[in-house]
Amino acid sequence: MPRYWISSEGIMCFIRFAPKTILICLIMKFRITLNLKEAYGDGYRWKVGLNTVPCIKVRKRKRCSFCGFKNWKDPVPPQKVGKYFSDFFKKNYTQDISRVEIYCSGSFFDDSEVSRNSRTEIIKILNQSSIKKIVLESRTEFISLKKLSDLIKYINPKKLIIAVGLETTNDAYRRKLAKGLAKNQFIKSFEIIQELGMGFQAYLLLKPPVIRNDREAIIDLVKSVKELISITKNKESNLTVAIQPFFVVENSSVAKDPYFRNEFRPVWLYTIAKSIEILDKIRKEQGLDFKIILGNYNDNVETISIPSNYNKQGGICACSEKIREYLKNINCYPQNVRVITDEVLNSKCNCKKSWIKDVGSKLKNFD
Ligand SMILES: [Zn+2]
Repeated sequence: MPRYWISSEGIMCFIRFAPKTILICLIMKFRITLNLKEAYGDGYRWKVGLNTVPCIKVRKRKRCSFCGFKNWKDPVPPQKVGKYFSDFFKKNYTQDISRVEIYCSGSFFDDSEVSRNSRTEIIKILNQSSIKKIVLESRTEFISLKKLSDLIKYINPKKLIIAVGLETTNDAYRRKLAKGLAKNQFIKSFEIIQELGMGFQAYLLLKPPVIRNDREAIIDLVKSVKELISITKNKESNLTVAIQPFFVVENSSVAKDPYFRNEFRPVWLYTIAKSIEILDKIRKEQGLDFKIILGNYNDNVETISIPSNYNKQGGICACSEKIREYLKNINCYPQNVRVITDEVLNSKCNCKKSWIKDVGSKLKNFD
């Protein structure tokens, strides 16, 4: 009998069912834009991207300047997102996931992306799992008391974290980024989230494309965090500061500018460590307990340049990959943030001298 002998029944079976299986796999791949599990605390953080109808900013042809989101073929209709997510969840959920982050093409609370019924279906299935924290991202114009209240009929609000891309508290910078988000709108959303007892996560860009040097970048980040602390008053335990070191991506409007394509140097990795060290000092000195998480570059986009260390000639230093990898420990070991930042800032690599000359020596007033 030949080794790969298949009965005629087997062949028929393959012909009947294989195309369907392949088709389902392809659809699944196309409609799930992100499916990543990363070490986080004592479990895993699971990032799930759903190909929903695109963000309102894309629909209005007014994308944020750094956004690389362009292709949106065959999005899942808003009424079907819930069912689609449930099927995907059942096949991919594992018990070691402690936190799930659901990314739509823009806003979870935008009815044009995710219908009310779909939102309920997603929350119901997540509530049956042992996942402790659920991050839902939205632009502020879709955050209303009614929409958020809908969810807490099915889940403990403490499990929910509503994430908003604030980027910076500097209004002029945000305007230049074409973000289309006013500070009062942001404060109003925070108050609703707070009133319902949910957690709040603010994304802040480190060295957004409106800032040209690392020192200014740190000043902007620290100022933004201090302002967030004052907005959240004595409720900062609900606050998560999600720092996203800016990186240049294909299809974004900044990528059309030759400066950002060829000359712009995303923030130094030492600067990332230094920023987190400063924020951790503020946290300890003021006895606050807001959380800090660090974003990376796995975002279903094609990158042009990402944060690195640089050699004397301005090229990317060979130590970059190792340090980028090491910085991931910030999220894995939140209790040891300072050990991690110290380790990076005590690097013996030659490039650190260039960083001190360019940036470090200008940061004295921060210590
Ligand atoms: Zn180096």
